[in-house]
Amino acid sequence: MSRLDGKLAIVTGSASGIGRQIALGFAREGAKVAVADLDLGGAQEVVSEITRGGGIAMAVAMDIADEAQVEAGVDEVAARLGGIDILVSNAGIQHIAPLVDLPLADWRKVLAVDLDAAFLTTRACLRHMIRQGRGGTVLYIGSVHSVEASPLKAPYVTAKHGLIGLARLVAKEGAVHGVRANVICPGFVRTPLVDRQIPEQARELGLTEDEVVKRVMLRETVDGEFTTAEDVAEVAVFFAAFPSLALTGQSLVVSHGWHMQ
Ligand code: NAD
Repeated sequence: MSRLDGKLAIVTGSASGIGRQIALGFAREGAKVAVADLDLGGAQEVVSEITRGGGIAMAVAMDIADEAQVEAGVDEVAARLGGIDILVSNAGIQHIAPLVDLPLADWRKVLAVDLDAAFLTTRACLRHMIRQGRGGTVLYIGSVHSVEASPLKAPYVTAKHGLIGLARLVAKEGAVHGVRANVICPGFVRTPLVDRQIPEQARELGLTEDEVVKRVMLRETVDGEFTTAEDVAEVAVFFAAFPSLALTGQSLVVSHGWHMQ
């Protein structure tokens, strides 16, 4: 028996990077997976990958920062899969700039995707979990920046810290319904999100791209290695499959020792 047999999961931002690997990992463990993303073509490719491997998945186009799209998208997923047991609130964006130069519009854009959307998707999925009456799991993809700060990332660091508060709140309000909430906090993972910020950080900090990787991103790790999307997916399966409310309101850092709790 696989670890997520028969579970119904929605993973946001799963057309790419960490979310994609979580969707693939959940499907391998027997879950039916909704691949939710702005990028419908990318989401459909992940669905094809899952179905080729014998799994069951669907794609859903959704801007997670848009309340109406989240409500409609989550309802569509629940109707087509037959319910929702697991939400992974994963999609996120980054913006590199010193705080003193940061326009309010850029601050709001990051907060909308990295924090408001976690609230919107949680609210929409919780309503289904409560109605179904069989509990559920909410997983937030935070970051080492949920527990540490780095220069040039004011809205991202603020949003990622906020996810820990939200998870604790959902753990308390969800307990009576058998719903657990936890946060996974990855170190740097080589995804398009990180590939975009290497040249941006190099420009802001006056370093070469190689120096950004070695002296900024991986300097504090125990072995100079990137975390992988597969590492994060393995931890997501562990959290999603955990059988009781013993594990709720927690955050776990997966970062090659960059941050030790
Ligand atoms: P990525 O850029 O590879 O993938 C992000 C996905 O989210 C894309 O498919 C994109 O289309 C989707 N997306 C973006 N905005 C969206 C929106 N408004 N609505 C719906 N979908 C949207 O990024 P990634 O590196 O895989 O990051 C995934 C999550 O992991 C993010 O929350 C990120 O902050 C977090 N994280 C990443 C790293 C890292 O080093 N890559 C480290 C720690 C945490």
